Amino acid sequence: MRYNADVEENLAQRLRDAVPADEWELLSRIAETAAGLGLPLYVVGGLPRDLLLGHPSIDFDLVVEGRAEGLADLLAARYGGRVTAHSRFGTAKWDLRGSNFDIREKEWKRRSLDLVSARSETYKHPGALPTVRPGLIEDDLRRRDFSVNALAIRLDGAYLGELRDDLHGVEDLRSGLVRALHDGSFSDDPTRMYRAVRYEQRYGFQIAADTLALIPGGRALVVKLSAQRIRHELDLMLHEDRAAAMLARLSELDLLKLIHPALFYDEGVRLRFSRGEQQARGILRWLLWLMVLPEPQLQSLERRLHFPADHYAALAGASRLWSELSSMGDASPSGWVDRLDALPHLSVSAVALGLEAGPAKSALDQYLAEWHKLKPFTDGEELKRLGLEPGPAYKTILRDLRRAWLDGRIRSEQEERDYLQQLLGREIRP
Ligand code: ATP
Ligand code: MG
Repeated sequence: MRYNADVEENLAQRLRDAVPADEWELLSRIAETAAGLGLPLYVVGGLPRDLLLGHPSIDFDLVVEGRAEGLADLLAARYGGRVTAHSRFGTAKWDLRGSNFDIREKEWKRRSLDLVSARSETYKHPGALPTVRPGLIEDDLRRRDFSVNALAIRLDGAYLGELRDDLHGVEDLRSGLVRALHDGSFSDDPTRMYRAVRYEQRYGFQIAADTLALIPGGRALVVKLSAQRIRHELDLMLHEDRAAAMLARLSELDLLKLIHPALFYDEGVRLRFSRGEQQARGILRWLLWLMVLPEPQLQSLERRLHFPADHYAALAGASRLWSELSSMGDASPSGWVDRLDALPHLSVSAVALGLEAGPAKSALDQYLAEWHKLKPFTDGEELKRLGLEPGPAYKTILRDLRRAWLDGRIRSEQEERDYLQQLLGREIRP
């Protein structure tokens, strides 16, 4: 992907074309209000970058030079809705419910909007949360991760469409380079090494040589990253189209084992991701990636990454199933169902997606498509009507009926009735 705008071009028209009409109206009202207060307002980060690359995202980050809270309060006074301010970071969230931009009245896609005060950041020690002070837009751009993410387009009044490129992001967009803004960038925040790889692979860019040279120094700090922060970066990658290429690059830069020795990339990962293709994102990708690991390694990994409990259960289930596949080859449908019913559904989906074509994959596919929801005509009520004393026998009988259906021993309601009769050892009247 390459830069495709004329630098001299005022970006107002491009912005207007890129932003959906309803969002543009909202943005215009905010810009108008900011202009009235004399506050410069910018859209920063992802949107300017992607706009210049010619495929804009609709997700915008707004930065105001001055008090975001004041702007948000005036917006709420004019258009309704509620404001929550976080003074530590100089941010204000404008909740649009009940406002003129209420999602319930129009087709607005968003429920709230974040306004951020331009700020400068300094780090007391590597990996720490930054110390934040109010600042100018240039300070705000300087605290960012990469030059291509440090672009801003002004929105207020007559300045609409003016590009701020203090850190030469346009040049790097043109050359396809991901460049950190200063030598301490990765020690300030080691997650940026992971972000660098994500942007590099997403856009088919290169990490600039000077920036690549900072990685060895940043490596030592990865151990200090919290489970939540590092997992978030990996999550973001696993949502991307080119996730496999990103993991490959992390592995090449020796940034995977650093998080935890069990993390790896190999040809198998690439294959499983490509088999899973479009359907698999996020949690499913985690399973496709890691289900080949034995459970003790997953437990150890869990101690580093603190997966949400249901995600971990799905991962452990997929790993168990994966390791049992070779011994399940000639199981009957009911044998498969007995095993698969005991696992999280997501585990089965992941293993089915990741497997190459063969008997195991077709068993899992049939389980997901039909077997798992197959029920006999008979239910507990019916057994009661037949005069059977309620108790544990119900479960056994219903399971036996289901198994008989699964394995093709009964194929009709009448056959089920006959079979039930055998099970109960006496005559049943319809
Ligand atoms: P994406 O398309 O991945 O969402 P984005 O640029 O919108 O890209 P976000 O994660 O939404 O990325 O962050 C918005 C902006 O905040 C970035 O463009 C960047 O300027 C800044 N940013 C995000 N994370 C960091 C970080 N760890 N260090 C410095 N700046 C960051
Ligand atoms: Mg974004």
